[in-house]
Amino acid sequence: MKNQIIVCENHEEIGDVVATIFAETTITKPNCIWGLATGASPIPVYKKLCDFHEAEALDCSQVTTFNLDEYAGRGPGDPDSYYEFMHQHLFDKIPFKRNYLPEAKHSIDLDELNESGIRYDAIIDKVGGIDIMLLGIGTNGHIAFNEPSDVISEGTEGVTLTEQTRNDNALKFYNGDIDAVPKYALSMGMKKIMESNKIVLIANGPNKALAIYNAIYGPITPQCPASLLQLHPNVTFIVDKEAYSLCK
Ligand code: PGA
Repeated sequence: MKNQIIVCENHEEIGDVVATIFAETTITKPNCIWGLATGASPIPVYKKLCDFHEAEALDCSQVTTFNLDEYAGRGPGDPDSYYEFMHQHLFDKIPFKRNYLPEAKHSIDLDELNESGIRYDAIIDKVGGIDIMLLGIGTNGHIAFNEPSDVISEGTEGVTLTEQTRNDNALKFYNGDIDAVPKYALSMGMKKIMESNKIVLIANGPNKALAIYNAIYGPITPQCPASLLQLHPNVTFIVDKEAYSLCK
């Protein structure tokens, strides 16, 4: 299948389209494996999935999920952890078979994070890999927390967040206070992302326009990790008009 681009009217429509794709995949394969993202972009997706569940149009009781990343030193009980984000927006509302998140609560040490990442990748391998992966994109072209770099990260590992990413997240989630944003994270590497059977990347708003252009039409380079998706056989970019504005 060739990579597809779907341009939506707005963020809410992105949520409807993506939730429908996840629901259809799950109807076809009830015990499928989802890869899930955090951040502002997926919130309408999770809202729509909850609506489907409430309307009894979606049964996730056999679905296993894997999240992309977690801040170093954060985890269950930390209000700004991705663990709590996922529970608030999805896991407390829809019962799944099992939800996995990278375990980073007890460490800001990159070596320890790397060991946790090796364990995480082994679990993904054991279940047979990810069937459908939801990705956001950073304004710098990162996917998960794979930041622009000279080398491609392979396994799930400890990463240092760029100032741009910390600044973006400060504006969205920390009242603009960059010092409150963790400096390190545990991120799924490019290998497990690229091994996913199907990838759906979402983006909305004008500040994502350059990253979307580079991801779809730019050179394939680890300086824009999302550009590596051009090498994947089944990616759908689902974006709003503003995020697509430089592609016309
Ligand atoms: P966002 O983040 O959904 O909050 O814009 C996406 C990302 O940084 O990958």
